[in-house]
This record gives sequence, C-alpha cells and structure tokens, in this order.
Amino acid sequence: MIKFDSNLFFIVLLCIFQIIFNSANRHDNVNFSKTNNNDLQKCLSLSLPLSIRTIYPCNTLTNQNSSRYKCDHFNVSSLSSIRGGRISHSPAVIVYATDNSDVQNVVKCASKLNYIVNALSGGHSYEGYGLGSIYNNIIINMEAINYININQRDRTGTFGAGARLGPIYYKTYQYDKYTINAGTCPWIGLAGHALGGGFGILARLYGLLADNILEMTAVNAQGKLLTINKTHEPELYWALRGAGGGLFVIVTEFKFRLVKSPSLVTTFSSIWYPNATKLVIKRYQSLLFNDKTLNLSNNIFLSMSNVVSLMLTTLPTPNKTNIHKQDWLSSVYGELSTGKNDSDYRQLLLNNLTYPTYNFKAKHLFYEQPISDHSLDQFIDVLALGDGELYLSFNPWGGYISTIPVDKTAFPHRSSKVGIQFRIYWNDGQDEKQQLNWLNQVYLSLYNDSTKHSYINYIDRDVHNWMNYYYHTHQKRLINIKHIYDKNNRFSFERTIQ
Ligand SMILES: Cc1cc2nc3c(=O)[nH]c(=O)nc-3n(C[C@H](O)[C@H](O)[C@H](O)COP(=O)(O)OP(=O)(O)OC[C@H]3O[C@@H](n4cnc5c(N)ncnc54)[C@H](O)[C@@H]3O)c2cc1C
Repeated sequence: MIKFDSNLFFIVLLCIFQIIFNSANRHDNVNFSKTNNNDLQKCLSLSLPLSIRTIYPCNTLTNQNSSRYKCDHFNVSSLSSIRGGRISHSPAVIVYATDNSDVQNVVKCASKLNYIVNALSGGHSYEGYGLGSIYNNIIINMEAINYININQRDRTGTFGAGARLGPIYYKTYQYDKYTINAGTCPWIGLAGHALGGGFGILARLYGLLADNILEMTAVNAQGKLLTINKTHEPELYWALRGAGGGLFVIVTEFKFRLVKSPSLVTTFSSIWYPNATKLVIKRYQSLLFNDKTLNLSNNIFLSMSNVVSLMLTTLPTPNKTNIHKQDWLSSVYGELSTGKNDSDYRQLLLNNLTYPTYNFKAKHLFYEQPISDHSLDQFIDVLALGDGELYLSFNPWGGYISTIPVDKTAFPHRSSKVGIQFRIYWNDGQDEKQQLNWLNQVYLSLYNDSTKHSYINYIDRDVHNWMNYYYHTHQKRLINIKHIYDKNNRFSFERTIQ
C-alpha cells in the first residue's frame, strides 16, 4: 500500500500497493414511492409465512396497521455500505427471506404482478446495486439465509447465500485451518462477491473464489428451484462464475471447494517521500510485469521471505519499513481493528457483523503492460491538483488465475497482470463533486495504458460501454444466457446484461 497525506507525504508498500491522499459531501435524496402496492402486499401475505418480515414504504399502503406486515419511512441507502445520493430510489417492499421457498414465493408474486426483483446479500456493491436501481422494485434481503456447513471428509463448504465472509473465514478455520480464497473485508456478502469472481490475497495461489464453486441452488425468474453445476444447467453454471450478481437467478446456496489457509501471513509496509513516487511505481512495475517474479509471488505464502527481500532490494530505499507476521484469521479480520483474540471474532459472529458505511467512489482498470513514463508524469501532475483521501491499489492478478482457460468461467480478464483500483473517500463536510472530479482525472491519466477493461465486482455506474468494459469477449454468450433464463428482465438494474 502506498500512502500520502497533505502535510507529511509518505508512501507505504504492502504486497498490494496503494496510494492514499488525505483531506470530503453527501446528499441523501430519497424519492418516496407513490405507487399503490396493495396487490403486491396481498400476494405476499397469502404466500409467505406470517413470521417473514416484509416492510413497505408507508405511503404506498392503504392499510398501514396490519399485523401481517410493517411499513417504514425508510431510507434504502442505510442497507448499503455506500452512503449518499447515488442511491435514491424507493422500493415497493423489502422481504427478509429465510429459506428457498420464501425466495420462490416472492419471485412468483413479482412475476405475476410484473415487479423487478433484486437480491441483497452483504450490501457491499460499490454502487448499492443490491438494492436495485429501479423505482418500486422488490428487494429480497438474504441476510438470514446465512448457514455455514463444513464437510470435513471432502473438504467442501455449503453456505447460505446471505452469509458474510467473516463468519465463513472464522468457521472454516476451526476445521484444520481450512478457508475460502475470497476478498479481504469480512463484511462482504458471499453471494455478490462469488458471483462476480471474488479476488483476495490467496488469488494468485488458488484463483478466484468463483473458480472454487462446485454447485449452486438458485431460484429462476419463474420462481422455480434449480440445481446448478457442471452437468445441471451448465451454461448458467458458467455465467454465475464471474459475470456478477443480480443478472440471471437468485442464488440461495453455494457449495465450495475449501483451500488450506497459509500458516503465517507476512505483510510489510514501507514509507517514502513523495518525490520518490514515480521511481517507486516504476520499480514496483518491474516486479509486477516480470515473469520470473510473478512465478515467485505465485507462492507468495510459501516463500514470503524471498518476496520481501526481492521487494526491498528492487524498490528505492524507503524511509521506514515495517514487517508484520500474523496468523491467517488475524490477517483476514485485520480490517475490523478489534484486536486479535478469539472472543472478538465470536462476538462479531453473534452480532451478525454490522458494518461501517462510507461516502466513497471507486474506479478500476486492468493492465497487461507497464504504465509508460509519459502517463506516470501526467498521473503525478493530476495527483497534485486535489486534496483529499485518495487510494490507489496496485493488485497483482495473474498467477493461478491466468492458468485457467478464459472460457472456463464467465470471468474474462485472465490475461491481466495487474489491476489498479482508484478509490476516494470524503466527509459530509467536503465537496463531493470536487472529490469525484479529482478521482476521475487521476483515473483518466492512467486509462490509455490499461486494457480498458475492468472487474464487475468493482462496478462503476459512470462507465457507458459497460458490456465491453466488464465482459469483453464473453458479451454474446452472456446475452444469450440472459435471454434463456430471464428474457423479461425480472432481475435487472441499471447495469444489467442486455
Ligand atoms: C469495503 C469493501 C471491500 C471490498 N473488497 C473486495 C475484495 O477484496 N475483493 C473483491 O473481489 N471484491 C471486493 N469488494 C467488492 C465486492 O466483492 C462486491 O461489491 C460484491 O458484489 C459485494 O457482494 P455483496 O453480496 O456484499 O453485495 P450486494 O450489494 O448485496 O450485492 C451485489 C450484487 O449482487 C447481487 N446479489 C446479491 N445477492 C445475490 C444472490 N443471492 N443471488 C444473485 N444475485 C445476488 C445484487 O443484486 C447486486 O447486484 C469490496 C467491496 C467493499 C464495499
């Protein structure tokens, strides 16, 4: 990670490389629905058990005092990890499903009465798409379908789609230190994450999380329950591993191949003064785009001391370096900042992992070649134009990910070597427009050297040619699959496959 701050510029380098600036406005703009949803309310009341929570915006119901449902003056954005005006539509209802038949019954009502349905699992979509984006939709909150079952004999895990990564990391680790090769934030929902690929620090060793999906259970657009694996619904099995959530079906259960967690995780951070920025990036690129080094970092957890020493000898001499060793569970829970002991993790499981929300925006690009000197100079110029908290993560992709044939799953970016994620955070008191403008300029400065493609899990609503940007060579096949499984767009949002 590389970090800068407006007073004291400093750069921190981890295995993943980021640049942070410090210095932030949020607009809650909720349009309340005016539609009459009484028919929907009747259908759901008749088909769901009394115990299922269904919450409607109060102004859409004639009878607000029923014992069968509740109404609320809710602000949907409170259900998402992103705050602010980007989430502004109001749904017809939020249903808290508890099992497959709840999901099936909701989809059947939606199909009968022509409502759009969106599944919400962990609420961590970068654009809040777990809540959908189209006015008067039905949101199925999957958070209660969160069971975690481990089969020690065949080293597989079967998880409810609403489970979050943190509890899965915790429980799988209790079984002979097994784990899943997923992302770093323990609050992320399994479903959205795995359906879009799922990139984490074990990706170069074990591939994407989607590469280890063995089977799924899902509800289709007609409300029918499907088993999806290599032999049942093979095209859907292909599409659900990498094309992203919210598109074809609602997955209720995943079965994964578990992987062995590393016995020790070593992270290191280095700090440089800002005038070293270009040199640090150039030298770091010489490692990231070097086939010999890339093979070494394939085994990043097996030979970390080699990697650390190689990094330190290649990069310019830092002002300061910290090396930190910890066990796997502490490293994946690292973002929680709750200390390292077991009871903290257990407590978090009991508390169902309420998660922080941010004013933030992210953009992302893949690279197959190093960034040119000319673009780096432009990048450094535009960095100086803003004042705020800007992060750039230079993630090494490739490794095992690139050994899997590109047509094996819907994830199309197997030949990309590096992904750069551009993220900006702001406070309620800062000018959102100014911050977003700065982020965009920095992103554009490095755009031409990229593959001009990106990762669906880092979805960005400002991209217009999104079919090509996210799906590249897989566009046509995905459009066909969408047409087969959901030709009426029951599952859709503003960046849906079409
Ligand atoms: C703080 C943070 C850290 C992150 N770190 C990483 C990382 O390390 N690696 C990485 O790869 N990504 C990372 N991400 C991105 C994350 O993987 C995606 O945003 C992912 O889609 C989130 O899934 P979710 O279930 O939490 O989100 P949601 O907002 O609930 O859903 C995301 C999308 O999936 C759909 N969906 C949800 N549940 C289902 C279901 N059961 N069936 C079908 N569709 C469904 C939704 O409708 C929506 O379109 C991070 C995101 C955040 C906010």
